[in-house]
Amino acid sequence: MNAVSCTQGRLAVVKRPAPTPGKGQLVIDVLRCGICGSDLHARHHCDALADVAAEIGYDAAMRSDQEVILGHEFCGTVAEHGPGCRKSAATGTHVVAFPLLRRGRDVHPIGLSAAAPGGYAEQVIVEESLTVTVPNGLAPDIAALTEPMAVAWHAVRRGGVKKGTVAIVIGCGPVGLGVICMLKASGIRHVIASDLSPGRRALAERCGADLVVDPTQDSPYAGCADRGHLVTAPAALELAVGVVEKLRRLPVPWEPLWRAAELLGAKPKSPVVFECVGVPGVIDGIIGGAPLFSRVVVVGVCMGGDQIRPAMAINKEIELRFVLGYTPLEFRDTLHMLADGKVDAAPLVTGVVGLPEVEGAFDALGDPKRHAKILIDPKRRAPEPASA
Ligand SMILES: [Zn+2]
Repeated sequence: MNAVSCTQGRLAVVKRPAPTPGKGQLVIDVLRCGICGSDLHARHHCDALADVAAEIGYDAAMRSDQEVILGHEFCGTVAEHGPGCRKSAATGTHVVAFPLLRRGRDVHPIGLSAAAPGGYAEQVIVEESLTVTVPNGLAPDIAALTEPMAVAWHAVRRGGVKKGTVAIVIGCGPVGLGVICMLKASGIRHVIASDLSPGRRALAERCGADLVVDPTQDSPYAGCADRGHLVTAPAALELAVGVVEKLRRLPVPWEPLWRAAELLGAKPKSPVVFECVGVPGVIDGIIGGAPLFSRVVVVGVCMGGDQIRPAMAINKEIELRFVLGYTPLEFRDTLHMLADGKVDAAPLVTGVVGLPEVEGAFDALGDPKRHAKILIDPKRRAPEPASA
């Protein structure tokens, strides 16, 4: 079969033997595989990522001197069942798969380890137990977005956003756009998005953001004071003292009233800010710019070190929450939200390429003006050269 391998940062089309499924595994013919920001990171920084993984006990993450087939955002058709499969999905069924693979005693991330080749290929091995049948004839272009949209769904759920909460999305690449789609699918009324690129701001609007700002012109936090958020220290101090003063004027003890209000969930209004950029300085920029008591959900993966001002975060009681991946249930639910039309992720797809065009697609994705998500169609042939 044809595949695209990555070694020492170079991408090349290679021939590989057809994969053989192990016990409880399937081979699927890949219909579409998304190119993820993690793949762009992994191409040049996989050793740093592998060091982090090794520190927490996983030592088989991809290394630059290995030949790895990337790709963890795929959908395909069932081609072959390995021994011991329940065959719940017949040959030819469209499926997506939670991208983890068993090898002996270990579990590996598909497309990010030499031990589990990914979807930049005509075929890929997956666990039968982790596959989900694509319902409602959902198009492969959209089904392949299950994985990145599940990342967004997990982030939104971990953000604990309520319908009346103001949600602010910093960065409108595929992750930020996915978060916007999932926030709107959850009925969140005030979604503010910010990105430097006009192209990505236009996509944010198509994904349903209620207000889209160019951060060089406007602050995404500008309207927060008007919406009742505390944006200065004096405002927070005034609130604390003012509430006690009011309660103590009443002819009843103030402490039970305060406790009752706490039980009812009374607290300063706090927006949820989603960090979807992942470059140094962004988290500290949010800590400095966001209203007091904001919750910051960090979805963007910043490589290497970064600096924050803890004293600023403490003075504003900023809550920092880091999120990773999704659960198998969130993955399944995301596919069904896409297939039921509850969420429209179509604006994310800005291109489809064949295997020989993958390297060019990586270069194109490095420039945020034009692209969000590029999908690989492994069966697609290079476009015919124009005849003279
Ligand atoms: Zn990904």
